[in-house]
Amino acid sequence: MPVPVSGGLILSYQCTAECRYCMYACSPKWRDWISEEDLEKILRQLAGRIIPSPYGPNSVSLNYGLHLTGGEPFLNFELLLKAVEIANRLKIPSTFVETNCYWAVDDETTREKLQLLKETGLKGILISVNPYYLEYVPFERTERAIRISREVFGENLMIYQLNYYLLFKKLGVKGRLKLEDYLKLSRGENLAENVEILLMGRAAYKLKDLYPKYRAEYFLDQLCWPPFLRGWHNHFDCYGNFIPGYCGGISLDDCRRLDEILRGGLSLDGKPILRFLVNQDFRGLLRFAQKLGFKELDEGYISKCHLCLDIRKFLVENGEFEELKPKEFYRYLE
Ligand code: SF4
Ligand code: SF4
Repeated sequence: MPVPVSGGLILSYQCTAECRYCMYACSPKWRDWISEEDLEKILRQLAGRIIPSPYGPNSVSLNYGLHLTGGEPFLNFELLLKAVEIANRLKIPSTFVETNCYWAVDDETTREKLQLLKETGLKGILISVNPYYLEYVPFERTERAIRISREVFGENLMIYQLNYYLLFKKLGVKGRLKLEDYLKLSRGENLAENVEILLMGRAAYKLKDLYPKYRAEYFLDQLCWPPFLRGWHNHFDCYGNFIPGYCGGISLDDCRRLDEILRGGLSLDGKPILRFLVNQDFRGLLRFAQKLGFKELDEGYISKCHLCLDIRKFLVENGEFEELKPKEFYRYLE
């Protein structure tokens, strides 16, 4: 079991948006939020393990410290504040919030919320900018949040991804934009040039027509990258799932029992899918699913994660696998 040294706490999968790119299949359909009890439990066990940004505990970096995320954490601002307060009390370093900025409707509200978060102990903010969230959030709100975050958090503002922000400014983007219109406006200006895009989660289904596809065989001997088990940038969700890396829908174990799990090691008993994934045995996983009736897609897959997800989705729909959760993740992908 990797000792988590950085990562994100998913306060809820509920979001104002339903991005075609969303790795965690978030949308307005989700209802649950983390309880205060679980919040305290998880943060207490992460404290002392999370390492600060190389620039220090009061600075932020993408793969260091702890981020509070969703879904859209600003949908439950009181809970977000509570999480910041607890993390600050527990001296968790390099904390930041990740947001789509839907809430930045005017300068006053924006400044008030950001200032309050800062005063409660939050160190920084990560603002999402890409063509997928742009279908839901007017660009003016993003620009406002960026401008005011700079005043409030100074250098501790991360724009993810900066290249999209610069491109949107260059293109003169206004308001919201359908992906199809964005593609027309940008005249095919590469969707992903110099920009990291992880073709997993909802992207595997909703963006598949934008990418070349390959037969399952092509991916079977590839290792997951970044590695499936690792200490950095894992996620912990509102149901207590310890999600390896960005792999939505997979639960290594219950992160509310993190101390105990780290002492005893990762148990694979009764978790056949997790066993295949930990051993990076994708041939074995594919054979296992095929025996249960899984058929690979004729059109092929855009990434290894697409294949992995398609297999897992089939398994969830046709069996009971406790390591494949939350179940709604699989329901809300498409
Ligand atoms: S990518 Fe972000 S903004 Fe879009 S649905 Fe997911 S959590 Fe919400
Ligand atoms: S192939 Fe599966 S286990 Fe590997 S990184 Fe992608 S989603 Fe995670």
